[in-house]
Amino acid sequence: MPVRSEILPYGRQWLDEDDIQAVVDVLRSDWLTTGPKVREFEEAVAEFSGTAHAVAVNSGTAALHAAAFALGIGPGDEVIVPPMTFAASSNCILYLGGTPVFVDVEPDTLNIDPQKIEAAITDKTKAIIAVDFAGQPCNHDAIRAIADRHGLAVIQDAAHSFGTAYKGQPVGRQNELTTFSFHPVKPITTGEGGMIVTDNTEYAEAMRKLRSHGISADHRQRAEKGTWHYEMTDLGFNYRISDIQCALGLSQLRKLPEWIKRRQEIARHYDEAFGELPIEPLVTRPENSHAYHIYVVRFPERSRVFTALRKEGIGVNVHYIPVHLHPYYQQHLGTGPGLCPVAEAAYEKIISLPVFPRMTDADIEDVITAVRKIVSTTQP
Ligand SMILES: *Cc1c(COP(=O)(O)O)cnc(C)c1O
Repeated sequence: MPVRSEILPYGRQWLDEDDIQAVVDVLRSDWLTTGPKVREFEEAVAEFSGTAHAVAVNSGTAALHAAAFALGIGPGDEVIVPPMTFAASSNCILYLGGTPVFVDVEPDTLNIDPQKIEAAITDKTKAIIAVDFAGQPCNHDAIRAIADRHGLAVIQDAAHSFGTAYKGQPVGRQNELTTFSFHPVKPITTGEGGMIVTDNTEYAEAMRKLRSHGISADHRQRAEKGTWHYEMTDLGFNYRISDIQCALGLSQLRKLPEWIKRRQEIARHYDEAFGELPIEPLVTRPENSHAYHIYVVRFPERSRVFTALRKEGIGVNVHYIPVHLHPYYQQHLGTGPGLCPVAEAAYEKIISLPVFPRMTDADIEDVITAVRKIVSTTQP
């Protein structure tokens, strides 16, 4: 008998009536897009993150692209990225004609290894993209020190860590530019959406322009000034997010601190339950508060465990296939196995277990029961 008859997903959104009402209110209003909710959501996220500016866009991928654009990344530039992430973290460099340079991760956290960054820096290096893997902030002090020593900028991809802190400071305070994603499995959702936070006014202006075709004034600003005139000064995109989405984001943001607490509670249950099993959860550094976007465990016999857990009704997943092993990267950048041995070895063993705030205590117990069942039957 499987532990569950219906699959428990690894991540899932939580929408209440008040979220739905917030969206409906916008549908009845004058502005469906580029209206007051976009600015309100930006201001709320900037305040939450302790930054001067926030720029909302229509995905986490667009946020990364805009951040790299603000730094002026272009052909000939190299940008350091970790391989243990979603491909978007490094694709943003390719969009701009730059070259991603992969630097391996720490074996215990799977965050980029600061000790390996310096060896990858050349006179073409412009920036480092630091991904807070699974929701645990990277060793940002060490990364910042290297970046400052070499005059590099840091983009923090905080798609997983939005809502948590590093050494008591909210995520967003550590680096020049920090990006978030509001996809349904992420800490809060707008359906699709993303945001960049920064203290730098020039970066914020560049990103606002990029999200609206590279045009100097948006529709609303023109309406306010009573003018038809605008100028396109950069080749931008339509990366705008709607007021419908931002109303949902505003409503979700209020719940984020509680949701992070619940994710941490779920992780504590797992930590305690798995202590006696021959499996290895990732390590959390004492200075870190962890958002637990995902709970990653290294299992012996990963493939068999993965299939067995799915059969038990546990919707496990694998985060991630190292980016440098994707066919596109192998074909176009000449990357391949052997480039980042720590990430490649981790990839052979990792499984993400379900973590999302709406999980019940019974759901948590089901995951623990299934893991115990599978591990005890797969061990010699
Ligand atoms: C989800 C994610 C992204 C991309 O966000 P989208 O909103 O899906 O475009 C980028 N980086 C990381 C680490 C992510 O998890």
